[in-house]
Amino acid sequence: MTTPKKELAVAALQNGTVIDRIPSSALFKAVRILGIEKLDKHVTIGNNLESKKLGTKGIIKVADTFFPEDVLNRIALIAPTAKINIIRDFDVVEKFPVVLPQTIIGIVKCDNPKCITNNEPMKTRFELIDPKERVIRCHYCGHSVNAKEAQIK
Ligand SMILES: [Zn+2]
Repeated sequence: MTTPKKELAVAALQNGTVIDRIPSSALFKAVRILGIEKLDKHVTIGNNLESKKLGTKGIIKVADTFFPEDVLNRIALIAPTAKINIIRDFDVVEKFPVVLPQTIIGIVKCDNPKCITNNEPMKTRFELIDPKERVIRCHYCGHSVNAKEAQIK
């Protein structure tokens, strides 16, 4: 018997987290934001998979790892369509979308070269000022940017 290619691309996970529906262009940024390259767990990353909604999508599967919700929500910056699936014993026990946090600390680089965060060793801090348009504003200099154009540190 042959296994269809689609199933191979999304091999089953016994326990862990699946981050699905990541726009293909944002996949590697999502990997970086979640700190996945530092994990010593099994990680499966698929990209340019077919998606009815997005055209193509990326997916990240991390075995035996359950991220805090505020960490997962960081990827809402660049992948607002992402869906989280929590897997226990091969079953999806929880499924939820990511939500852009009200305050984003230490992830986004401020575009303003004169901003204190670009000149002092300190964490950046952005506030979500327009959830509909997804505009975030630097707490220190007031510079605002659309989340999808935000520079990720
Ligand atoms: Zn700033």
